[in-house]
Amino acid sequence: MVTVGSHEPDTEIAFVSGHPDRRPRPAGALPIQRAGISWTVRIDESTGDLRIHLMDEFPPEMLALPSGLTRVTWRRSARARRVSLRIDPTGGAVVVTLPMRATRKAGMALLMGHADWVANRLAALPDAVSFIDGAMVPIGGEPHRIRHAPTARGAAFLLDQELHVTGAAEFLARRVRDFLRQEARRRLTGLVVAKAGLIGVTPNRVTLKDTKSRWGSCAPDKSLALSWRLVMAPSFVQDYVVAHEVAHLRHMNHGPKFWALVDELTPHTKVAIPWLRAEGARLLRIG
Ligand SMILES: [Zn+2]
Repeated sequence: MVTVGSHEPDTEIAFVSGHPDRRPRPAGALPIQRAGISWTVRIDESTGDLRIHLMDEFPPEMLALPSGLTRVTWRRSARARRVSLRIDPTGGAVVVTLPMRATRKAGMALLMGHADWVANRLAALPDAVSFIDGAMVPIGGEPHRIRHAPTARGAAFLLDQELHVTGAAEFLARRVRDFLRQEARRRLTGLVVAKAGLIGVTPNRVTLKDTKSRWGSCAPDKSLALSWRLVMAPSFVQDYVVAHEVAHLRHMNHGPKFWALVDELTPHTKVAIPWLRAEGARLLRIG
């Protein structure tokens, strides 16, 4: 049986999986095609074994569905039990996940059968915002206009609700992104340190990612990962997500003790979770 899986946001706010096609392909990996879907085979240097490398996602392609031209990303997954569809808000695409043995044909059949669902979901996505001169970008929930300032000195800087970006026009998008990441690191790690200090825990490290699957995570080795996109969210949302992950340093579960600790660390849970559900997809459409 096949099902259409939309993403059920939970408190971790799972949205979509990443774009592994942007990952560098490991050296020696050999892409192969089968059933129209490629994955890579590589030789394990230490054992000499030939291994199927689960490079599991591919650049999107435009397909003509009954509902119109649609951006489709194919994803091969060793863990998937059935063919499924979901929406990738950042890429504005429908992602078709195929278990290892499923054919592209099975994916196409599911896609065709749910063309209207796909079209409606893609149409409902917030407008994409590019980092160009004049575009509005939220920082800490406050709208800021990107202002290209080619002759100004130094790096990008904030002034009067505007983000001034120096340098040549072709580097503008990258500079905005760099600025936001840097700003995310400053604000979010500051919050982590403060909250971890409150309950006497110390994270191993804090990594900023462009995770498409969650706003934050805490690994068993006590390393925290946070999405740089949180810098765009209001500060009460940042406060909640950091509190949530810091609380995991003490409790690696979502039990009552965990939630009690989150409440000790932030007063914003009840407003931040609905905010992320309602507005989170918008942050994924920016940049
Ligand atoms: Zn959690």
